[in-house]
Amino acid sequence: DPDTGLDPLEFAVTRNLAAKSAADRDAILASPGFGQNFTDHMVDICWSVRGGWHRPRVSPYGPISLDPAAAVLHYGQEIFEGIKAYRHADGSVHTFRPDQNGRRLQRSARRLALPELPVPYFLQSLRELIAVDGAWVPSGEDQSLYLRPFMFAKEAFLGVRPAHKVAYYLIASPAGAYFKGGVQPVSIWLSEDYSRAGKGGTGAAKTGGNYAASLLPQSEAYENECDQVVFLDQDRNVEELGGMNVVFVYKDGTIVTPQSDSILEGITRDSLLQLARDRGHHVEGRNVSLTEWREGVASGDIVEVFACGTAAVVTPIGTLKGRDFIDEQPSGTLALELREELTNIQYGRAEDKHGWLYRL
Ligand code: PMP
Repeated sequence: DPDTGLDPLEFAVTRNLAAKSAADRDAILASPGFGQNFTDHMVDICWSVRGGWHRPRVSPYGPISLDPAAAVLHYGQEIFEGIKAYRHADGSVHTFRPDQNGRRLQRSARRLALPELPVPYFLQSLRELIAVDGAWVPSGEDQSLYLRPFMFAKEAFLGVRPAHKVAYYLIASPAGAYFKGGVQPVSIWLSEDYSRAGKGGTGAAKTGGNYAASLLPQSEAYENECDQVVFLDQDRNVEELGGMNVVFVYKDGTIVTPQSDSILEGITRDSLLQLARDRGHHVEGRNVSLTEWREGVASGDIVEVFACGTAAVVTPIGTLKGRDFIDEQPSGTLALELREELTNIQYGRAEDKHGWLYRL
């Protein structure tokens, strides 16, 4: 790698002799759902204090053997990423800004006291998996192959300290269109009793514990007939949804999104905001209080509110529901226009003017 001076890893490839037949695979790709079916192979790379990154492998997908004392099972020292591979009309396979996912994995690693996987190794792991499982990238509309890199403490030791042995893995799962029958606005439950992150906590890291902590508030959202939950910080500023960032569009064209060190920095959001800047919108990352949101909607200052992330790309927010209020959200066209513009780039239907695509 010219930037880091790192030589590429030499992956030992073991082919899956029980790989799915083309017919079985095509049956799965015809209606993939999400996160239930996995490709024939997986990648792993070991790390130890003494040996650094070593033993890179491509192996048949299957269960992992772990010592019951593996630190991850006790103290949750774990991080992950989520990224999609898209099939273009000419058959080629691309991911979108994977260097950003690689860097975010490094930031998450730092916060969780895990080793930082060099970005060139991260990118190579994606290429290695697609080299053997490329046929699993679906070609249907809005379909993709969801790539799930993750890293965890595997040292068998019950002491509370950063593990001396860690594993990085990459698995992949074909994903269907998030919205069947067109994009639908989502309803959002305001979580008053539970927060997602605290000042100085792990909110900006993509670590399993954040998602574990979101499950109870998410069930509260379902009990209140809402699709998703929105979290506030201790000063009642809007943070984000359980798995998506929030963006506000103002009457004068200004776009505002919460920015703080307790929010996961979404790559979808960053990309949409760049496309908005290209159109001449002024973009601000700053605190947005719940009061500013509710008053802005009531006065007509806020003309659109949407959520964004890799899974759903962009979803307009239709309602915000709290314990004692329901605010209908204004509906506009910008969210869906930006969604179209972004997915056109991702699927190779529009010029990639920012150089975001990465061919696998
Ligand atoms: N916030 C949270 C908590 C998330 O889990 C995600 C999904 N990774 C996002 C925001 C959106 O990030 P991205 O656009 O990179 O998928």
